[in-house]
Amino acid sequence: MLRGTRVMRIVWLPGSDLLEGECHCGARHVAEEPAALWEWLLACPDGHHPADPPVPAVPLPAAPASTPVPA
Ligand SMILES: [Zn+2]
Repeated sequence: MLRGTRVMRIVWLPGSDLLEGECHCGARHVAEEPAALWEWLLACPDGHHPADPPVPAVPLPAAPASTPVPA
């Protein structure tokens, strides 16, 4: 499998007649026709919406419940 920063990839979605293309910008697109998928890939960034940056898995720590409250 190719690796790099400008790699475009088209994979078949098993169990379907669909192909999924993944652009080097991180956008994905599903199409039935390879030609349509390549057109979409090569038109980057038109119509491409890169995936959102990953959300931190760990939430910010809340203040401990045992913190004494001044009277
Ligand atoms: Zn793209």
